[in-house]
Amino acid sequence: MLSVSEARERILAVFLPVEPQTVSLKRASRRVLSCDLSAETDLPPFDNSSVDGFALNAADFTCPRTLNVVADIRAGETSETPIQPGQSARIMTGAALPPGAEAVVMVEDTDFNVRTPGTPAPQTVTIHKSVRQGENIRHRGDDLHTGDKVLSAGTRLRAQEIGLLAMLGAVKLSVYRQPRMALLSSGDELLPVEAPLTPGKIHESNSYALAALAETAGVDIIQLGVAADNETDIRLRLQEAVEAKADVIVSSAGVSVGAFDYVKSVVEEDGELDFWKVNMRPGKPLAFGKYRGVPFFGLPGNPVSAFVGFEVFVRPALEKLSGLKLQPRPHQMARLAEPLESDGRESYLRAIVSQENGLLVARLTGHQGSGNIFSLVRANALLIVPSGVKSLTANSDVEIWPIA
Ligand code: AMP
Ligand code: MG
Repeated sequence: MLSVSEARERILAVFLPVEPQTVSLKRASRRVLSCDLSAETDLPPFDNSSVDGFALNAADFTCPRTLNVVADIRAGETSETPIQPGQSARIMTGAALPPGAEAVVMVEDTDFNVRTPGTPAPQTVTIHKSVRQGENIRHRGDDLHTGDKVLSAGTRLRAQEIGLLAMLGAVKLSVYRQPRMALLSSGDELLPVEAPLTPGKIHESNSYALAALAETAGVDIIQLGVAADNETDIRLRLQEAVEAKADVIVSSAGVSVGAFDYVKSVVEEDGELDFWKVNMRPGKPLAFGKYRGVPFFGLPGNPVSAFVGFEVFVRPALEKLSGLKLQPRPHQMARLAEPLESDGRESYLRAIVSQENGLLVARLTGHQGSGNIFSLVRANALLIVPSGVKSLTANSDVEIWPIA
């Protein structure tokens, strides 16, 4: 049987980034850049004051001194009046420094500590504090120089990158199109959440939970609904995914060895199945292949197995599809609080990780049945037991994946 890492490698080999498109900066949040970007301007673009105060000539850095105020410079304005020895200019935060000024003294350190908006500049000002060369000045290019590489292709744009791009005047950006993921559930026992429960039936939950996961991966979702356990209905819905130009299809259930597990057979008939079992726990029945050319994941039906299968296999595939630079999943090491038993399969167990005396300590959330979604809700991490390991003693170091 395939190991988790072999399966992941085979999956990732199938995916390539979707094509780029141009979007306006306003629509670029959370999108993935498709090319490197360099600064087209210095930041800040000109020398300016970092405080409200008075700009000084280098001859007047010591105090006390009384100076003639020869200019009044507001943010957004420039002044060509040079500041000579014995002179100063009132200057606001962010306003361009006038010629001849080499430091700014804060308004609080002068005799003109006036807070009322609109107060005109005084004729003279007395400085109470000596200043250093360059004090309270933000120099042109302090942050960035023209031509500096600022962002690389494959970066997801967070709020801070969006702010930087605005500062640089980047109105249009080249980003990867948002991938489309089609989502299918299957099973005759599944009722819509709106329907009251009847004997033998349960509420369908995977399409909700998997869509919520996919949203965190930044993809568009095409809901294919719930297929009945028959080939015709499954085929009809998978065909819908092809017509909607899905980049990937993710289905749950119907890929095990049950007498009515038709999903696997439909994919085999209309496409190709690469594998349908992975040596892991939970989630051994996990299919991967193509349905009419569209990459297809058949996750297990049990809600916890479907969740784990998504995190282990689907998320990295979506990341590659999205054009993101592939990086190992953020993980941490924690100390196991109690001994645990495993069955030799690579296991992803629900755990609660907490800080205790400066150490990360992990405890399982109890019974690990793959239908027990509440134990997944109580978990804040998946604890990974490597393949081949059948038991771990208390205090063992274990790898954990935080689950937000
Ligand atoms: P199966 O893979 O079809 O044998 O399903 C395995 C288990 O997962 C069964 O107990 C199903 O009832 C359950 N299951 C399958 N699909 C869903 C779903 N979409 N939502 C909640 N439970 C499901
Ligand atoms: Mg079923």
